[in-house]
Amino acid sequence: MYLCRICGQNTKKIVDIKKDITYYRCKSCGFIYLDNKNIIDSCSEKKHYEKHNNGFDSLGYVKMFEDFIDVAIEPYIKSIKTALDFGCGKGPVLAELLHRKGIEVDKYDIYFYPKEVYRGKKYDLITSTEVFEHIKEPIESLKLLSQYTNKNGYIHTFLHNLNKR
Ligand SMILES: [Zn+2]
Repeated sequence: MYLCRICGQNTKKIVDIKKDITYYRCKSCGFIYLDNKNIIDSCSEKKHYEKHNNGFDSLGYVKMFEDFIDVAIEPYIKSIKTALDFGCGKGPVLAELLHRKGIEVDKYDIYFYPKEVYRGKKYDLITSTEVFEHIKEPIESLKLLSQYTNKNGYIHTFLHNLNKR
């Protein structure tokens, strides 16, 4: 039994047989993370992400973010002027969609937008999609991000494949 990296409670094992990926989902807080065997080194990780076809030409991918915005952003949109897309990837679809909503969006990605543009700034919203399940110490990363969040701002982490299960 593995314990949740966020709250330390029991987790449920979820195996994606097709992709041979093992996840754990916390029974208490719902946090999902990858088994260590599926956390790959950063060099092969970059190669993997470069193969992703996650741009505006991928309709399912765009739809996923539109749904996400409807549910998680739209209700609070009046209070969101600035956002950081942390781990935006190669084709920053979410950043562009947020920008179209009139939000000023900064992008950061360890591989594709490595400049730490968030330093010295505070954001109303920080989004992080398909990032936290790969991080071995998510609490530390959340603490770091919270330094860049406004008093009434919020951080939204999101793992699209498993959230619907
Ligand atoms: Zn938990």
